This record gives sequence, C-alpha cells and structure tokens, in this order.
Amino acid sequence: MSNMADRGPASVPRPLRCNHLRVDARGYPIIATIGQESPPDFGTVSERRKIAMAAFDLCAVCTLPFHDELRWQVMFEETDEDVTTSEAPVHEICGLYAAQICPFVSSPYARLSRGEGRKGERRSELVVLSGYRATRAVHGKASNIQSDAVLHFDMGGYVRRHVLRTRGDAEAAYSTALAAERPMELDQYERQLVDLLCSLTDPEGEDSGGVMAGAAWHVGAGFCAGVTQVQGLDRYNVAPYTTIAVQALKDRTVRKLADDFPDRYTRAAMQWLITRDRLPAILAGWRSDGRRRFSQVLKPLASQDKSAERRKAQRKKQSAARRNNRR
Ligand SMILES: [Zn+2]
Repeated sequence: MSNMADRGPASVPRPLRCNHLRVDARGYPIIATIGQESPPDFGTVSERRKIAMAAFDLCAVCTLPFHDELRWQVMFEETDEDVTTSEAPVHEICGLYAAQICPFVSSPYARLSRGEGRKGERRSELVVLSGYRATRAVHGKASNIQSDAVLHFDMGGYVRRHVLRTRGDAEAAYSTALAAERPMELDQYERQLVDLLCSLTDPEGEDSGGVMAGAAWHVGAGFCAGVTQVQGLDRYNVAPYTTIAVQALKDRTVRKLADDFPDRYTRAAMQWLITRDRLPAILAGWRSDGRRRFSQVLKPLASQDKSAERRKAQRKKQSAARRNNRR
C-alpha cells in the first residue's frame, strides 16, 4: 500500500479553479466555507460564508459560480434520492480534489488503508460524491449535531456519482477530471465577489465572511426561511440590514445601491445583482418571498409614486384649462 495519504497537499496538482485560494502554513488551500484568517480553522465551517455561497450560488471549495454545472455533495452512502444536508454543494472537480487532500473527506479509506479502523466503529468504508441538477432550497434549521440552527441545502435531481472505495479510485477519478478541466469564464462582477470572499477585509485584516454575509442579506438572504435562527446570522436581523434588504427588492433601489452604497461589499453584491440575465434559483425564490411578505411596505411606496404622478398630471390639466379659460 502506497503512502499517498501522507503526501503533502502541495504535491497534489490543483484544479485551475482552485489556483486563487490562499494556503495555510502546511500548504492546505483555505476553502470557501471556512474563515480566511490565519491560522484557518478547517474544523469549523462558517455559517456566514455559507449564506454568501447560497446567495451568490458559489462552490463551497473554490468560491466560483456553478453556472450550469452539477452540484456535488460528499456522502458516505449510495442513494438516488433527493437529500438534505448541512454542507454547501461543490463542483465535481472540487469535490474530487477535496477527496485527495482533505482529511475530513478522505478519512474513511485513508484510515482503513492504514489499518486504523477502530473495532466496533460502524463507519462507512466508502466516500460517495453525488451530483445533483439543482439546489432546490436553502433553509436554517436545528442540526442533529449542534443545538443551534445551521443552514441546510436540499439537493434534487440526482444525476450521477463517484464511488470511492480506495485511494486508487479517488486518484483515478481526480486525474480524469483534471485532464478534462477547462478554465471557467467569469464576468467582472462575479470576479469581484470571488476576490472579496477570498481576501481579508482591508484595513482590518479580518475574515470577509461577516461583511459578505451582510451583503448577501441585502440582496435577499434575509428572506431565507429560518435564517434568523442560524448561528452568527441573527445579528443581521436588525435595521439597517432588514430595511435595506426590503428596499433592495425594488430594481430602482438596487441600481442606486450599486452606484453609491458606502460599503464596497454590498456595492459589489448589488452590481452583480443588476447585471445577471438570470438570477440563481435560490436567490430568485428568496426575493419573490420577500416581495410577497413585504408587499404592504412596498406597495404604498409604489402607489405613492403613482398618486404623485396623478396629482402632477391633474395640475397640468388644470393649468391648461385655466389658460384656455383666459382666452
Ligand atoms: Zn469549485
């Protein structure tokens, strides 16, 4: 048995789309869903970063968009059913890359191959990567492991899977995916979001997850079911986050915020929002739920606009009538 499991992460070639990720002191890439400060805590997934992934429809490993690619989940059993999981989905090649280097993903067969499987421990002997057509819903709910709620992802439309029983399986599937990989094209607004998410805040040098979660809240994540119960996200359920989110349901306000909102993260999010031909389905759903829930708040403004226009038209008519009368 080879000792591949002990090869450093730097010796595994990265997918093109992971090249921009920063690395920790040992060479592990700092993936999208963990805090970007150093040293990174690979054991703690950030709910703030997850809500940004969900809103902008980004991969939980590389931070790049899904576009029309399948969404993959790492699992420990084979099933064709729709699943709900607290993990944010990833690209196929990013999931296969994680199975090469990530101790959390590769541990079952890595441990087994080293004869470290504990007796009596009923643990799966395989890693399954399952590809789904769609993320059907994202919502906050209590998890089995933590008492606090976390974001959950409903995956639907199973398409195909990789079953990785040995490290050899994982290597073969990954090298096939690497050989087929083409660079992903991003427009400047997508690129801007990715850059902000993968950098520390300037000048504070903090994880950008907090400000990006705020930006996600503003574009529509604040209307995600159960989001206010999720650990670390309740802080956004207050003004001005909530009022900006409601006002940003109007395209006119989105255009204005994209131009002159003082915070660059929200500005970038609004610029991205107004330049989409088609919104990611999850965000589109949140925004239409928001419009339904806040129709009373949004409608009076709209009808005020209209009645102002009506009054103006009436004044015009009256002064025209007065002019006519004077003749
Ligand atoms: Zn990816």
